[in-house]
Order: sequence, then C-alpha cells, then structure tokens
Amino acid sequence: MHEPEWLAPASLEEALALKAERTDATVVAGGTFVGILVNQHLLAPTAFLSLGGIRGLRFVAEHEGELRLGALATHRAVELSPLVREKWPALARAFSLVASPRVRNRATVGGVLGDADYASDPPSMFVALGARVVVQSRHGAREIPAEELIVGYYETSLAPDELIVEVIVPGGPHRAAYRKFRTRSHEDRPSVGVAACARDGGLRVVVGAVAGRPQYFPELCTGEPASIAQAYAEAIDPIGDISGSSEYRRRVIAVEVRRALEEIAA
Ligand SMILES: Cc1cc2nc3c(=O)[nH]c(=O)nc-3n(C[C@H](O)[C@H](O)[C@H](O)COP(=O)(O)OP(=O)(O)OC[C@H]3O[C@@H](n4cnc5c(N)ncnc54)[C@H](O)[C@@H]3O)c2cc1C
Repeated sequence: MHEPEWLAPASLEEALALKAERTDATVVAGGTFVGILVNQHLLAPTAFLSLGGIRGLRFVAEHEGELRLGALATHRAVELSPLVREKWPALARAFSLVASPRVRNRATVGGVLGDADYASDPPSMFVALGARVVVQSRHGAREIPAEELIVGYYETSLAPDELIVEVIVPGGPHRAAYRKFRTRSHEDRPSVGVAACARDGGLRVVVGAVAGRPQYFPELCTGEPASIAQAYAEAIDPIGDISGSSEYRRRVIAVEVRRALEEIAA
C-alpha cells in the first residue's frame, strides 16, 4: 500500500485551489478526529490536505463587537482567551469541557464543526449564541447560520470545494449557559449537552449529543423553564448509544434544559 500524499498549503488561496482540484484528499486540521478514523482503518485516503500551515486562520479576536474565531484556533485558545472568558463566558466553558487539555491543544474550531459528530459540545453552544459560520471556495465566501451547517450524522451542508474559514459570534449583552451531562469518565463526550442563550428578550435553547444535529426548536422557546424543558424532552427522539438509552436521555433532557434556563435566569 502507498503512503498517502501530504498536501501542505501555506496560504488559504492555495488550500482552496487544492480543495477544488484534489477531490481525493481528506482535509486535516488538528487531526484528532481524522487520526482516529485512520488508526481504526475506517479511512484510508490517498492524500491529506493539511491546513496546519495556514497561520492566518488561528485568530481569536473581536471586530465591531462580534467575536471572530479562525477555523484553526484551537479549543484551548478559545477556552483560555481573556476576551472570550470576559464577553462570551458560556462559549469558553463549552470549549473547556471538551475531552482533555491534550486533545484541546490540537482540536480546532473548524474541525469540531467539520466532523459534524453528534456527540460534540461546541456546536450546540454556537447555535444557541446565534453564530454564523463563514465558508469559502475559490469562487468566494458565504455565511451559514450555525444551525444550518450540521445537517445529520457526520454530514454538513458544505459544498465539496468549500472550507470553513471562520466562525462569527454576535456580541452585546446576553446571558448564556452550557451544561454537559456525562455518564462515563470526566473526559468523555456528552450524553446530553444543553446550551441556552437569552438576548434582547429572545431565547434560544439547543440540545446536543442526542440526535444527528443540534436540536433547536424556536417555537418551543417561550414559557416557564419547566414547561420548555418538558416540551424539548417530548419533541426530541433521542439516540440510544453507549452514553445512555433513548429513554434515559429523554429524562436527562427534561432536567438539564430546566437547569440551564434556571442558570441564565438567576
Ligand atoms: C479522546 C477524545 C475525546 C473527545 N471528547 C470530546 C468531547 O468531550 N466533546 C467534544 O465536543 N469533542 C470531543 N472530541 C472530539 C474533538 O473535539 C474533535 O476530534 C475535534 O474537535 C476535531 O478537530 P480537529 O481540528 O482535530 O479536526 P480534524 O480531525 O483535523 O478534522 C475533523 C473533520 O473536519 C474536517 N475539517 C477540519 N477542518 C476543516 C475546515 N476548516 N473546513 C472544512 N472541514 C474541516 C476534516 O476533513 C475532518 O472530516 C474528542 C476527541 C478525542 C480524540
């Protein structure tokens, strides 16, 4: 068997050209997800398209009141950023609860959205905060509301020639919370993750790790915490897996959604 080719562009332009031309190449950023697939022989690409050399995509910055996260910003950079901790503390918390520091030092913002793994923490928080994902191809850039990026199990709405380049999170006064419920080790993925954000009189509640994509029902986001929580528990058809059965997760959703809402109301 041949060793896979390693394509290592040094600029975004070069990466976008390769993304369009090399349809056989698997994009790799931090490699924490791709590495496992390769080690388990679930993936054997002929080439890797490594984004690691694109230094310009590692930023964590504020621009005109919004938070801008480059696709190659690591989880650790988001978690430890004084800016994020001060103005978007629930987002810093969601990133801080992912796996272990070893994983968070490698895993990237683009990677956790690009892998579309249902049992991830940050995507639900991005949806609750009303984030937009900036994606780009050789033909230009477009913004996708975070809730429209992940469309199913390990599936995104990205076109084949597009890369995630940035995530933009609205700023201004808001109250937000992220609650991660684990059933196994302290470093494990969530059994249920709940993100909630109240802003300008509106509320967004998002439940992660229970279905193919973050579960957000705008029409259920009014009323008392207990009734919203019950409505979410009834609306979601949770997956059953190693982190909990479907019925168990339904009960956890009812409790954790209520707690998240009480947290942001306190
Ligand atoms: C031991 C362990 C525990 C974990 N626990 C948790 C947890 O508790 N919570 C949690 O949320 N996650 C958890 N994870 C998942 C981890 O967060 C993801 O593996 C990581 O975020 C992926 O980021 P990466 O940069 O390493 O992506 P990579 O592995 O490099 O890539 C992931 C996928 O995204 C694609 N991709 C990467 N960058 C881009 C881009 N810019 N544009 C388009 N596509 C792109 C790749 O092609 C690939 O399909 C865990 C992982 C491990 C290994």
